[in-house]
Amino acid sequence: LAVAGLMMGCSSAQGDEASAKVERIPEVEELLAQMTVEEKVGQMAQLTVDVLTVGEDAFSTTEPLRLDEEMTRKALVEYGVGSVLNTAGNRARTLEEWHTIISQLQDVAMNESRLGIPVLYGVDAIHGTTYTAGATFFPQQIGQAASWNRELVRRGGEVTAYETRASGIPWNFSPVLDMGRDPRFPRMWETFGEDVYLASQLGIEIVKGYEGDDNDVSDPTRVAACLKHYLGYGTPLSGKDRTPALIPEIELRERHLPAFEAAIEAGAHTIMVNSGLINGVPVHASYQMLTELLKDELGFTGLVVTDWNDINNLHNRDRVAKDAKEAVKMAINAGIDMSMIPYSLDFCDYLVELVNDGEVPMARIDDAVRRILNTKHKLGLFETPVTHYEDYPLFGSEAFTDDAHKMAQESMTLLKNEDQVLPLPKDARILVTGPNANSMRALNGGWSYTWQGNNIDDFTADYSTILDAITAKVGANRVVFREGVRYDNAASYWVDEAYDIAGAVRAAASVDYIVLALGENTYTEKPGDLHDLTLSENQLALAQALARTRKPMILVLNQGRPRIIRSIEPLMKGVINAYLPGNYGGLAVADVLFGDVNPSGKLPFTYPLYANSLVTYDHKPSEHQARMSGVYDYESDFAIQYAFGHGLSYTTFEYSNLSLSNTELGKDGKIDVSVTVTNTGELEGKEVVQLYTSDMYASITPDVRRLRAFDKINLKPGEEKTLTFSLTPADISFINEGNSRVTESGEFEVHVAELSAKFNYTE
Ligand code: BGC
Repeated sequence: LAVAGLMMGCSSAQGDEASAKVERIPEVEELLAQMTVEEKVGQMAQLTVDVLTVGEDAFSTTEPLRLDEEMTRKALVEYGVGSVLNTAGNRARTLEEWHTIISQLQDVAMNESRLGIPVLYGVDAIHGTTYTAGATFFPQQIGQAASWNRELVRRGGEVTAYETRASGIPWNFSPVLDMGRDPRFPRMWETFGEDVYLASQLGIEIVKGYEGDDNDVSDPTRVAACLKHYLGYGTPLSGKDRTPALIPEIELRERHLPAFEAAIEAGAHTIMVNSGLINGVPVHASYQMLTELLKDELGFTGLVVTDWNDINNLHNRDRVAKDAKEAVKMAINAGIDMSMIPYSLDFCDYLVELVNDGEVPMARIDDAVRRILNTKHKLGLFETPVTHYEDYPLFGSEAFTDDAHKMAQESMTLLKNEDQVLPLPKDARILVTGPNANSMRALNGGWSYTWQGNNIDDFTADYSTILDAITAKVGANRVVFREGVRYDNAASYWVDEAYDIAGAVRAAASVDYIVLALGENTYTEKPGDLHDLTLSENQLALAQALARTRKPMILVLNQGRPRIIRSIEPLMKGVINAYLPGNYGGLAVADVLFGDVNPSGKLPFTYPLYANSLVTYDHKPSEHQARMSGVYDYESDFAIQYAFGHGLSYTTFEYSNLSLSNTELGKDGKIDVSVTVTNTGELEGKEVVQLYTSDMYASITPDVRRLRAFDKINLKPGEEKTLTFSLTPADISFINEGNSRVTESGEFEVHVAELSAKFNYTE
């Protein structure tokens, strides 16, 4: 997998093995038997809707969108293109607009093409239905992960599925199951964070939310999920999007594969491929990754789609194919089923030639088309090619928006609360400042109404920024607003300017508290590449200038990744990480600031202290750290700002009675680990109980700790609950030097909060 290079052929036993597992649905088989090579190849093509529409530049709302009839007929009738993606003009559409456009496409595909196969429409409904006006936006995945709340993540998936279907769209390019292990990576906020167990657990929930418990996606309130970006996309060497990664197989299998494996096991219907190279091999051309590992070993029987233009990239960028046609041959033979082209029909012409010349076996084409038609069949598209928004009365309803608000509240992570400065009294006078204080755009992040989450004012007028929400809590007469620093919305996304720091400092003179909202402006994918992880100089300067007033200051971080705050963190009395909490994020920040909600989020990543010292909690031991002491020495190799799993509450929880049902674990056995948690404070609160294990000695150096179980519970003051988690040999397994998953005999430690206990595993 890692180093053996590219295999071009696909007539091997393994390829056949994968294809044999794919379900044979009689209606699909009947159709397949009638299809010409051209019709089959057409099904494997996916175009952006932009090439099928006319009459509108990117942000004009004056001229209505129209189908380009000539181009649509060429694509859907002449070429038989099977799939369309994205939104037209890169902006959100109304439900009516979506209905019109998709109905028109289906009309052409079903009534004018020879076999009448419906189009499979896909979009990025990333934290809610991104491209539909009025849709319910949840926190981005990194914030969802910070909630550590399985039910809420599932609920978010359900609401998003419903509203995506209300828009007539049955296929969602979500969830992102890449690992968020490198904050330099501009897509970290699209992930569930650094831990593969947390990502696997929440990945299962979101897939079940999208597809339902039984994955019956013919239910018109559900969508087909698309796991992405298989595999190893989140950790390029340079930290920059779509640049090469070096990931040994042992690491791919230990930390990148399990979340995909779990979501495939949970029934996810489709997968999108990593745009990048791993160990010099473009994933799109890797027979080993796509066929041997994904389809044979993991037994994935669904549809594998490329990412944007990535077959062409095998020639243009990656230089493994000498021309565009060879690129098509490589990718299809490696195991790609559908090409997100997205603009030109050359792919179809090349692939027809390749099949006719015997360069791509017909068996491979049939396998790909079967996977595509099966997906359409399971989605019920042959009977109901377009759902109608009028059948979706809950779209944007209060029940949905309450869920989004709740998840935003539960994602808020209180990182610091010196002298219990928080919650703030509601009769205090407050300076609200910083470039993120009054921005709906910054709260939402990318994939919000537009790809980059910019130019969204038309869509967000009814929601509250942090400033609006604070004002609503305490009254306009108690709030002073000075932005201090502002983003330059016209320039690159990370450019800000210090335009009124002095004004903010002057305003601080008359207040009791400063709420300083810093972080990032929106970005998606490559435009979010950074040269420096440290918070911008202007924002640091604003914090430092305000600190000189000696007014107690609360830092609200509204950012997609942990920007370095080392120089200003000591100046803060309180720190809240809000991540990218969505349209209800302003309200949620204010709910926590004033104690209407007791914070319960926990960091789903390690917050670094230095930009040059990035580390994850599941690292290997080193000389500088007393093994498993759990105490970080800031001079050590593992200097951090805040630990993975950290997050404070306004109440206090005490852990006691950690006990194991037995101290010997056998091959088919299990150990029940119980622990009691008591709310010893005066407020009701939620706590995320986290169970870690440490392997004392192993054949490869074990990670210092690994998360193995968690649960989020609610406790009233004085209330206690005893939780029981089960550990099996699989839970303490790891990938060994031979790239196999093993559980080795030996001694293990269990850690829950400050408590620990030991057990032995014997085979
Ligand atoms: C992104 C994918 C996305 C696709 C379609 C690509 O640029 O990498 O995550 O699903 O575009 O919009």
